[in-house]
Amino acid sequence: KVIVFGSINMDLVVKTPRLPIPGETLLGHDFFTAPGGKGANQAVAMAKLGIPTYMVGRVGKDAEGNSLLASLQTYGVSTDYVLTDTEAHSGVAIIAVEDSGQNNIIVVPGANRRVNTEDVERLSNIFDNAAALLLQLEIPLSAVILAAKAARNAGISVILDPAPAQKDIPDEIYPLVDIITPNEIEAAQLVGFPVNNPETALEAAAVLRQRGVKTAIVKLGALGVCCATEDESFFVPAFPVEAVDTTAAGDAFNGGLVAALTEGHSLRQAVVWGAAAGAIATTLPGAMPSMPSRDTFNQFLKD
Ligand code: ADP
Repeated sequence: KVIVFGSINMDLVVKTPRLPIPGETLLGHDFFTAPGGKGANQAVAMAKLGIPTYMVGRVGKDAEGNSLLASLQTYGVSTDYVLTDTEAHSGVAIIAVEDSGQNNIIVVPGANRRVNTEDVERLSNIFDNAAALLLQLEIPLSAVILAAKAARNAGISVILDPAPAQKDIPDEIYPLVDIITPNEIEAAQLVGFPVNNPETALEAAAVLRQRGVKTAIVKLGALGVCCATEDESFFVPAFPVEAVDTTAAGDAFNGGLVAALTEGHSLRQAVVWGAAAGAIATTLPGAMPSMPSRDTFNQFLKD
C-alpha cells in the first residue's frame, strides 16, 4: 500500500465570456465543481492503477467535504484517515475561465491549512507495510517535514513533489527525501537558474542531489523527464499524444512512478510509467477523470 499526505480541494469553476474587471458583475454561462488538490489527485492516480492507497489530510464539515470524500472513495482511495475538521471549511479553488481559455484562480486552503502534528500521528498509525509516502507542498511545511521524518524512521520511501513552486524550502528537508519530482518551474525556483531542457534539468537534478535527495526527477512537460541518481542519469522523452488539457499531468506522473516502484519495477521503468500516466492524463479534460485506469494504462503501454 501507499499513503498520500496532502491537500484535498474542491474546484469551483465558472465559465464566462471574459474575466470581470474589479467591481464588475458579469453573467457567466457555465458552472461545475470538480474534486482536486495535488494530494488527492496523486492518490486517485495510484488507486486507479490498482494500488491500495490511503489518503491522509483534512476536509471541512460541509457539502464540499462530503462530496470530496465520496469522490475519493469512488476512485478507490481509502479516506478512513481523512479528518473532517469542524473548525474550517473545505479547501476550495475558485476558478474563472474565459472563453479564450485565460483564467483567474483563487485558492483558499481552509482545512488543508490546519493539517498539523496530530495528522502526522494519525498518519503514523498506517505505516505498517506501507511502501511509500507521497508529499506535496499544499499543506503546512512543518507537517510535511514531520511526516517525512516519521516515514524515514519507519523505513518508508518518501516522494516529495515540491509543488506549488516555492523558493525557500528548508535545507533539512532534502536528506529526508528519496525522490523529489519538480516540474521545470519548481526546479528553477529551488535551484535558482532557468530549467527548460534536458541539460539544465540534469544540472538542477545534480544540485538537488547535492542537497541530500537520493533521486531527482525533473518533469519537462511535453519534452519528457530527466532523472538522476547516484548510479545513473537518463532522459525519457514524452510519449507523443494529442494533449487537450495538461491539468494534473504532473500528479498522474507521480502516481504512475510510485505505482511502478510499489510493484517492484526498476527506477527507469517507473519513470516510463510516470511519463505514460502523465501523457494519458493530457488527452482528457479534468484532473481525476483524466487519470488512466489500469486497463487503459496497460493498453497504452502495449501500443
Ligand atoms: P506538471 O503538471 O507538474 O507541470 P508536467 O507538465 O511536466 O508536470 O507533466 C508531467 C509529465 O507528464 C511530463 O514529464 C510528461 O512525461 C507528461 N506530459 C506532460 N505534458 C505532456 C504532453 N503534452 N505530451 C506528452 N506527455 C506529457
